[in-house]
Amino acid sequence: MKKLSKSGAKEKIDEFFERERFKPEEAKKIKRLGMKFKIKLGDKKKRFCKKCFSDLRDGKVRIDKGYKIVECKCGYKNKWRLR
Ligand SMILES: [Zn+2]
Repeated sequence: MKKLSKSGAKEKIDEFFERERFKPEEAKKIKRLGMKFKIKLGDKKKRFCKKCFSDLRDGKVRIDKGYKIVECKCGYKNKWRLR
């Protein structure tokens, strides 16, 4: 594999999140890539499940006490504080 620069990695990450759909393995790779280059995914992290990396587009969304809770098909409840 070609060695990736930080800007190359960032580009790859941006491209990934512009896509409509993705596979859990791909999300996992992107997260690892971000960690390797210390690139913060920020709000983009909310696109996939913290536990199984599935697309959360299909998740059940609930708002509770200032939190947004998205339940993944794996059963894990992803929680984010609303700003
Ligand atoms: Zn999940």
